[in-house]
Amino acid sequence: MAESIEQDVSALSDSPPEGGQHPAAWPWGAPGGEPPQAGGGALEATALRGMESLRTGDPVLYDLLAREHSRQAETLTMVAASSIADPAVLACEATALINTTTEGYPGARFHAGCGVVDEVERIAIDRARQVFGARYANVQPHSGTSANQIVMFSLLRAGDTVMGLDLDAGGHLSHGSRASVSGRYFHAVGYGVNRAGRIDMDEVRRVAMEHRPRLLIAGASAYPRRIDFAAFRAIADEAGAWLLADISHIAGLVAAGEHPSPIDHAHFTTTSTYKQLCGPRGGLVLMGRDHDAPAPDGRGTLSSLVQRAAFPFFQGTPSLSSIAAKASALARVASPGFREVARRIVAGAGALAHELRERGYTLVSGGTDNHIVLVDLAPRGLTGVVAERALEECGIVVNKNRIPGDPRSALVTSGVRFGTNGLAVRGMGPEQMPRCADLVHAVLSAVRPVDDCTYRLDPGTVAQVRREVAAICARHPIPGYAVPAAPLPANAGRITAAPFLPFAVPAEPA
Ligand SMILES: *Cc1c(COP(=O)(O)O)cnc(C)c1O
Repeated sequence: MAESIEQDVSALSDSPPEGGQHPAAWPWGAPGGEPPQAGGGALEATALRGMESLRTGDPVLYDLLAREHSRQAETLTMVAASSIADPAVLACEATALINTTTEGYPGARFHAGCGVVDEVERIAIDRARQVFGARYANVQPHSGTSANQIVMFSLLRAGDTVMGLDLDAGGHLSHGSRASVSGRYFHAVGYGVNRAGRIDMDEVRRVAMEHRPRLLIAGASAYPRRIDFAAFRAIADEAGAWLLADISHIAGLVAAGEHPSPIDHAHFTTTSTYKQLCGPRGGLVLMGRDHDAPAPDGRGTLSSLVQRAAFPFFQGTPSLSSIAAKASALARVASPGFREVARRIVAGAGALAHELRERGYTLVSGGTDNHIVLVDLAPRGLTGVVAERALEECGIVVNKNRIPGDPRSALVTSGVRFGTNGLAVRGMGPEQMPRCADLVHAVLSAVRPVDDCTYRLDPGTVAQVRREVAAICARHPIPGYAVPAAPLPANAGRITAAPFLPFAVPAEPA
């Protein structure tokens, strides 16, 4: 019995990766076709009714959502791991697709009623393949972390060696940190960066040849420089490892040709979709020329291994709303307008790096090739957490980040990480960076640390920087987002108590 279920499951999830036969529609920036039948405006009416219902029936929650909308509109967000999703992406997450339960893949589902969502998933797959020039795409991973786990757990056995960039050199928790299942279940070894803050390929090769990992991971969360995926592949081949390229942070630059693509160098490429792809929470697994290499378990190809691994091995039902949102985001990434955004991301980061250096800041690796500017605050006698908090008080949102060799914990740190994704979406590029750097510098030169985590900052500086931030935000509103009517109250984000059950229980009908 159990065995036959297992066979049924694998028959479904062994279905060959689909895509290709459905010409992807490129709605933005492509010559216009016929607009689809609008379904009588049912989507719009339902969405509006939902907002209205929330506002009147659950004002506490509605207020929080509205405050978050305002906070984003009225702050300069430079969190490198974030971006801004278009309202079309938001809309995909809020339709009746949320009610559709299924398992499996398009054309091979465990449930009826999937004709429409099959088309949605096929479009997402086609777009992912086209945007990245990939031969295979799996759009079901619930996150970038899940995408990594899908690859790692399908390919490896407990105790196998994986090799990734050390956490404090800019690596990611899911690449073998002891704090994550990836480092608990596998034997993890790491490589770092050299004194210049760069990944040293000779060091990567030395560690790989010494430890002979089964999986070599190239990819980072806080690495401001270009990654040489071709060199990583040469080392993987020499050491007998598979190569996983995790482009979560740079996927938009890769798609736009602003960073070399790993697709045909790596056996597997993973990404989260909410960072540079300006999409929903979620992940992708992509494969290039090695998609049809044999799987190590002798059952089919590497892509069929991933197909089985996403479902049923690692995940259950896919989030069809998120898959629709990924499809929508990917269409924008394919448009000429996005290439412009990607260029602005890189040029803006380069300009920000230059302006901060001019004002005396020390940058890890001395500068940037991508969207990240990582500042070492130790020479200024500040911790990352003090800088993060002081900047936030003034309307500038960044994140504290460990730097290579950081003696401080992840909750304190010696660095802050700036990123330009969100600013670029708001139309800000190199021209705006001198002003942004001035504001950052105004805060960081006025802040007086009391201890590692607390500080004093004179209210005059706070008021003045907040005013200037508000003016910049007003000049660069978030495209497509309604501007909040009233400014954010000073206590925004400091919600104290909220009633637990805001809805009145409906009376039983008599
Ligand atoms: C952000 C990130 C992830 C994790 O993505 P989630 O979707 O947040 O799970 C994985 N790898 C790298 C390199 C990242 O930067």
